[in-house]
Amino acid sequence: MNCPYCSNEMSKVTDKRSSPDGTRRRRECLKCKKRYTTYEKISKEDMYVIKKDGRREKFEKEKLESGVVKAFEKRPVPKEKIEKIINEIEEQLRKRGKDVMSSVIGELVMKKIKEIDNVAYIRFASVYRGFQDVQDFKDELKEIK
Ligand SMILES: [Zn+2]
Repeated sequence: MNCPYCSNEMSKVTDKRSSPDGTRRRRECLKCKKRYTTYEKISKEDMYVIKKDGRREKFEKEKLESGVVKAFEKRPVPKEKIEKIINEIEEQLRKRGKDVMSSVIGELVMKKIKEIDNVAYIRFASVYRGFQDVQDFKDELKEIK
């Protein structure tokens, strides 16, 4: 970005702060010595979820978030840890490309939750897989013991 005062291209960065949304830089123009701030937003490309029936839906992090948060309800797991796995899941999904199968998301989420808390895992899995009957549920419980 050019200096807003004199349009000079060269500047030096005097301060830099990163946040999940982007980076804020304080700059000093090398020509007129005035200071200004630039923002660099992280551009996240749209990602699409391919449903079982073939429908294509825009990926919404909020949906992923609410499902995971719900699974951990009243569990002794710190918020930061839950946030962290949500971000890790998103990151891993984005590495896979623009389109991702909903089943891939489900399996990945289950794997991540399982690493942290078995009760949350069972909760999520029972909603996600829609256990057919109590026997399914028991089999699943046996599996994780
Ligand atoms: Zn300048």
